[in-house]
Amino acid sequence: MKTIFEKSSGVDGITLTDSEANINFIDKSYLRNGEVGLPCVSELDVMRHYKCLSDMNFCIEKGFYPLGSCTMKYNPKVNEFLAGLDGFNIHPEVKDDFAQGALELMYNLQNALLKITGMDAITLQPSAGAHGEMTGMMIIRKYFDNIGEKRSKVIIPDSAHGTNPASAKMAGFDVVEIKSNSKGQVDIEALKAVLSPDVAAIMMTNPNTLGIFEENVKQVSELMHENGSLLYYDGANFNAIMGYTNPKLMGFDVVHLNLHKTFSTPHGGGGPGAGVVAVIDKLAKFLPVPVIDFDGERYYRNYKLPDSIGNVKDFFGNFSILVRAYAYILMMGNNLKNVSENAVLNANYLKEKLKKYYNLPYDEPCMHEFVITGEKQKEEKGISTLNIAKALMDENTHPPTVYFPLIVHEAMMIEPTESESKEILDEFVNTMIKIAKECNSDSQKILSAPHNTCVKKIDEVSAARYPDLNYKGNKNV
Ligand SMILES: *Cc1c(COP(=O)(O)O)cnc(C)c1O
Repeated sequence: MKTIFEKSSGVDGITLTDSEANINFIDKSYLRNGEVGLPCVSELDVMRHYKCLSDMNFCIEKGFYPLGSCTMKYNPKVNEFLAGLDGFNIHPEVKDDFAQGALELMYNLQNALLKITGMDAITLQPSAGAHGEMTGMMIIRKYFDNIGEKRSKVIIPDSAHGTNPASAKMAGFDVVEIKSNSKGQVDIEALKAVLSPDVAAIMMTNPNTLGIFEENVKQVSELMHENGSLLYYDGANFNAIMGYTNPKLMGFDVVHLNLHKTFSTPHGGGGPGAGVVAVIDKLAKFLPVPVIDFDGERYYRNYKLPDSIGNVKDFFGNFSILVRAYAYILMMGNNLKNVSENAVLNANYLKEKLKKYYNLPYDEPCMHEFVITGEKQKEEKGISTLNIAKALMDENTHPPTVYFPLIVHEAMMIEPTESESKEILDEFVNTMIKIAKECNSDSQKILSAPHNTCVKKIDEVSAARYPDLNYKGNKNV
């Protein structure tokens, strides 16, 4: 596709008047003395250009998006409308008395999320799952400082999301990894072997990143608490258990939720998000300030938590995401339980349909997601999981999460989410079977995929490490 510079026709899209700005104070060496070099295109051409660019992107509105652990589900459009209401467009410095509606919404959302998690107190401030993890770990650290115990270690299973060890480390802990057992779950003996008086906490995801529910979670929590340690629950994928159980019942002390996954916000590409953190009673006083309170008459921002870890984000956090989450919870009502039911049903359906064609390393009932592999295709035809992912892009399907979790070779982590119909799931199954068959009959086609996308295989590492966003003229295009 041509860049907007190449499309430049010399037609002025806009007429600018002479600048009246006083630029005398700017050093001459900084002033431009040649042409600006901006493209000249009409408004209609600009619109077409950006529409074409957006068409090149894949999104949930275009097709199935089973990106494991990311919960790319349908986000009701009415939530977008509500988040955009005038009354919610308020200045973050406004006095509490002029923001009663917004504060009431936050207060009610806090209560709803406390019910859902079973916890006692909550902060809505963190702006991502990983941010919530770091907040939770800082709370745990402050707790031990407060009771005068020196505990420097955090235990994390090898199946954990990569953000977990990073967050623990950023909060000043040393990470101790433990291996999973043959069922893909926390190995109790391995856990016992690393328990010592300087262990502050364990960070667990349940179901873990293999999509498997940790059967021994109660035993883990008893062992940790006997050791004087705390339990952190990574609740990013709450659509696996919501309404059926909660982290409090499992014995956890701190949990973060990703509102931008479970509670509906269009996300991806790094934001925006809301990684709220809920805690049990004895940790409430360490929460970031302000928390939203109600004195029976008015809602207010409460800064009076003397043991608070402080602010983790300016003002309220990502407020418009809180609006979406609250709208979603109200809309779902008692059906929140059905969300988990359908998420788990859909994942198990796909797993059973696909296991004849792809390796299934842990053949257990799964929760909201599961992991298959391209190992068979790799061994037999030299086709990697990456090739299979690229082939899926030709079929109007977003690839699953690949090469994660790290403990599974050639992993494909599939999360259909609750909002997809059986017809769409069957279409995906057929596509995956077609690709599995083509790996045998036409391996060259799969190895050279994608064929229909606007760019082929991009150098993602260089794109991320050395982004060069300046147009350099035709020679570099
Ligand atoms: C998505 C996810 C995270 C991180 O959330 P971000 O909002 O991307 O920071 C952490 N843990 C698990 C299990 C996740 O799926």
